[in-house]
Amino acid sequence: MAGLYIHIPYCHSKCAYCDFYSRPDDGNAGLVADTIVKEFRLRKHEFAEPITTIYIGGGTPSILPDRLLGDIVKGIGIDSFDIKEFTIEVNPEDIYPEKLKFWKALGIDRISMGVQSLCDAELKAVGRRHSAQTALDALDMIREAGFTKISCDLIYGLPGQSVYSWQESLTRLLDTGITHLSAYSLTYEQGTLLYARMLNGKVIPADDDTVLELYSILCDETAARGFRHYEISNFALPAYEAIHNSSYWNDTPYLGLGPSAHSFDGHTRRINPASVRTYIENMPAFEIEAESEIDRLNDRIITALRTDRGLELNSIPHKYRSSIERYARIWVNRSMLEYRGDVLIIPERHWMMADAIMRDLILTDSDQTDSE
Ligand code: SF4
Repeated sequence: MAGLYIHIPYCHSKCAYCDFYSRPDDGNAGLVADTIVKEFRLRKHEFAEPITTIYIGGGTPSILPDRLLGDIVKGIGIDSFDIKEFTIEVNPEDIYPEKLKFWKALGIDRISMGVQSLCDAELKAVGRRHSAQTALDALDMIREAGFTKISCDLIYGLPGQSVYSWQESLTRLLDTGITHLSAYSLTYEQGTLLYARMLNGKVIPADDDTVLELYSILCDETAARGFRHYEISNFALPAYEAIHNSSYWNDTPYLGLGPSAHSFDGHTRRINPASVRTYIENMPAFEIEAESEIDRLNDRIITALRTDRGLELNSIPHKYRSSIERYARIWVNRSMLEYRGDVLIIPERHWMMADAIMRDLILTDSDQTDSE
């Protein structure tokens, strides 16, 4: 099985923390849609496996006029696929009943909405255009339209966020009956407005203890409601895990269409240009990212340790296994990494330390030499 990712690069405005490739409407959305269809027809043969999941992300795909979204979906001919999950990313201010009906008719069965917070001051602090009430109203409409696979994004560690306001956002959002939650700790990415504000002292990042407390509230609240914490940032009710996103963590191939989209055919990564103009004029113009065996293993180590399935050591070639186990020992001794049979797992309470643990387990060329 394989996944299809379609990147719609347009947003109403730029959120202060965002480093995805997105831009305001430039009058080229129709050309982008046409080029995406052409790119699919040109590149679909890169994959031997049938496409079983589609994810339209961005950017903000929900701002696309229905006609253009319809052109893309019909142009790639999804009627001929056996689709198990078809997701669209949306923003609350774009939701209304007719649009939801149209998406359903296209075959979309999963909505992923950027809520980020249900506190208006926090939303404003990071440049979100919608209010908390707009998000709650949108969720009502999504449910009334008959969608059951509903995922929302939240961010913790936002400027001005307190333990109380985080608990409020979380509780109110989970009370709406969503079936999947992606919750991210705010990061200050270089080049974003938020990063500049941090440098000039206008925003002070939340300290580590506060972030840990917010994370622990998140784990407790979702567990109490029956959500499985299946990846560092993802929580799902039983049977509502994101199939498409999970494929990024288990080496499933995916074809990425549109400006800045990434593809992976099981061996090679291809990266489309992060420019609407270059994409339209030069498609296909992807860069190929050469990956060595060690690069691929490191990708596997990083992604597997971010999940509750952990890293299966018997999936690692024998010649590297002793290096990994040697590097793991210090964290195992500190009980921040555990063996469960032949699997290495970071316990949920220590996932906030995952980056530091994974940095230690990363293989280098000398591991190859040492162990051969
Ligand atoms: S809506 Fe999403 S993609 Fe667009 S700027 Fe905000 S965070 Fe980035």
